[in-house]
Amino acid sequence: MNIKEFSYNLQKLYQEMSDSFSSYQSSTGWNCLASCGKCCLNPEVDASIFEMIPMAYSIYKEGKLDVWLEKLRTSEQAHCLVYEPGEKEGEGKCGRYQDRPSLCRMFGVSGHYNKQHEIILSVCKLIKVKHDLNGEELKGTKDLTPMMADWSMKLGAIHPELIQKKLPINQALLGALEKVAFTLHYQPDNA
Ligand code: SF4
Ligand code: SF4
Repeated sequence: MNIKEFSYNLQKLYQEMSDSFSSYQSSTGWNCLASCGKCCLNPEVDASIFEMIPMAYSIYKEGKLDVWLEKLRTSEQAHCLVYEPGEKEGEGKCGRYQDRPSLCRMFGVSGHYNKQHEIILSVCKLIKVKHDLNGEELKGTKDLTPMMADWSMKLGAIHPELIQKKLPINQALLGALEKVAFTLHYQPDNA
């Protein structure tokens, strides 16, 4: 694998994904709460190792590979180690926003199909409460709603392992750092 090229292609798709989800949030007005980072405190945030390769590659380029390997191998923190808490409880931000994986780009509002093949919106609880969303407005429309399954297919088209075997996010980042370190050790010209 050419890590640099892979990261570049995935970053391009990640940007399109973010544009799609955030423009939907803007067009509906269902934006995230200001300075909120509560979803990052959830220990169930997951990603595949391959999804974390752009983040691992950035860490490598910054010369921080060993620091992060140590941190990820020794920390017992269940939620994402990349998260930077703010001053008030529940406030915070992603410390590596440009490199965050797919789930982190879809937290707020996204669409999925129910058993009747209707489009149902999956909306963060805090956004639901803020906008009092409970009923019909939680049904999406085919042309407008960014669908998780569609974006998953686009990821899979770049590399099948992007959508296989999800791990807790800290484990996925550790796996990606080890992969980047191993690959670039044998292919230093691709660094
Ligand atoms: S990668 Fe960033 S957005 Fe995703 S859980 Fe970690 S801190 Fe939050
Ligand atoms: S998705 Fe919800 S918890 Fe996450 S930042 Fe937005 S409002 Fe906060």
